[in-house]
Amino acid sequence: MRFSGLRVLREGLRGNRGWRPHWRDASPRPAYDAIIIGGGGHGLATAYYLAKKHGAQRIAVLEKGYLGGGNIGRNTTIVRANYLLPGNSEFYSHSLKLWEGMEEELNYNVMHSQRGQIVLFHDDGQRDAAIRRGNAMRNQGDDAELLSVADLRRMVPYLDYDQARFPIRGGLLQRRAGTARHDAVAWGYARAASDLGVDLIQNCEVTGVDVKDGAVRGVQTTRGAIAAPKVGIIVAGRSSQVAAMAGMRLPIESHVLQAFVTEGLKPCLDHVISFGMGHFYISQSDKGGLVFGGDLDFYASYAARGNLPMAEHVMEAGMTLMPMIGKAKVLRSWGGIMDMTPDGSPIIDRTSVEGLYVDCGWCYGGFKAVPASGDCMAHLMALDRPHEAAKRFRLDRFRTGRGLMDEEGTGSQHNLH
Ligand SMILES: Cc1cc2nc3c(=O)[nH]c(=O)nc-3n(C[C@H](O)[C@H](O)[C@H](O)COP(=O)(O)OP(=O)(O)OC[C@H]3O[C@@H](n4cnc5c(N)ncnc54)[C@H](O)[C@@H]3O)c2cc1C
Repeated sequence: MRFSGLRVLREGLRGNRGWRPHWRDASPRPAYDAIIIGGGGHGLATAYYLAKKHGAQRIAVLEKGYLGGGNIGRNTTIVRANYLLPGNSEFYSHSLKLWEGMEEELNYNVMHSQRGQIVLFHDDGQRDAAIRRGNAMRNQGDDAELLSVADLRRMVPYLDYDQARFPIRGGLLQRRAGTARHDAVAWGYARAASDLGVDLIQNCEVTGVDVKDGAVRGVQTTRGAIAAPKVGIIVAGRSSQVAAMAGMRLPIESHVLQAFVTEGLKPCLDHVISFGMGHFYISQSDKGGLVFGGDLDFYASYAARGNLPMAEHVMEAGMTLMPMIGKAKVLRSWGGIMDMTPDGSPIIDRTSVEGLYVDCGWCYGGFKAVPASGDCMAHLMALDRPHEAAKRFRLDRFRTGRGLMDEEGTGSQHNLH
């Protein structure tokens, strides 16, 4: 079933009776060539690229809940490629290019909107850091523009520029950055993967990983045992728990990250804005709600909801930056479980168990990584060698100390990233 304007018109005229389910609701078979554990954005994209680019047949995605019910449907939807360090820089650049072709590739409207992201700076040191980052982005082939206060006053007049404590001195703009509808990304990849023959199996929790003679043989699930010579663990906040089923200890801590949305308002915020003096970012959804978030709840947890002190902290940052949002009513808040690595950068690698691969450590920034992560993980699983764009995302960097990518410059402590 292809989507098009004509199709929408025809269905409208025929009472919308011709639409079909987006994907097949498959039941598990006894064996596959490859199993993906986790039906989030990264797992679904991996399955899609395995089938599409590498012609893999007999692939299953095993999801313990429903597709899109994890972080892929809980994030604040920011898509950008403004990383500084080698490793992250080329990877996120690759990802943004895939975003730009995603809707055509999947024939699915993911509402990708390149409305631009502005990261504000508030003192000279931050200005220097922004210039350096902007140069790195341009060297990578991506766009970056330095904005003066006058530019900002014209573009985003509702910020509090004269605030005595955190005066705004300028911003770094990436015009190609923006937002997308998060769960549509999961649905788009799910639909495209299913069309290529991938079995998407919901309500199927993996409870064990079968390893024999140093190689993976398959998994145990709540719907029975399933054999496979290749298994990818792509479960975000649950990474350390699932890896432990294969006897591995990952350098991951799980923390809650909250997000908030207000009642629908008339269009008032054209960009994604990130505050430089506190962790606060905001955009406006197409429905009109202001979508915003801030820091992690700084303790390890598997609860997909947050606590009030952090909610208060985020509201305070928002009010400091743009006092006008104090009039908006917050409708909902929620949390997601973040897989935090010590250097704040991800892992896409083989493990010590033959045929077992991990894709994790996305911290609070894995939504924008979905297409490139899927592409690179599929490449690794199909060819057993890393994709050029992800070759630094090695698991052993935390053991050897070589090749760490401390993007935030906060040191090797999970909860500081
Ligand atoms: C509040 C919030 C805001 C965020 N904002 C942004 C942002 O603006 N930009 C950005 O780039 N990133 C953002 N992120 C991060 C991003 O959402 C995540 O890094 C990314 O979605 C994680 O990858 P995923 O989509 O595959 O994860 P998930 O959707 O969580 O997928 C993992 C899946 O694995 C399944 N699973 C777990 N255990 C098992 C098991 N034993 N068996 C079978 N299945 C299992 C889970 O049910 C889940 O569906 C944010 C996250 C949150 C929570």
